[in-house]
Amino acid sequence: MSQKHLVKLVCSVCKSSNYYTSRNAKSVTEKLNMQKYCKRCRKRTEHKEAKVKSS
Ligand SMILES: [Zn+2]
Repeated sequence: MSQKHLVKLVCSVCKSSNYYTSRNAKSVTEKLNMQKYCKRCRKRTEHKEAKVKSS
């Protein structure tokens, strides 16, 4: 049974969670950190990985 490790990408400027992605914890050990477009900031900002609370 393999469950995907779902994470969200949070804008480091406004803390808005703009993107959701799945991460393979075995192959990717370091935290995601990428430049993405933020709708709230209306520009490309640094997005960092954050955990998604599962219901
Ligand atoms: Zn933002």
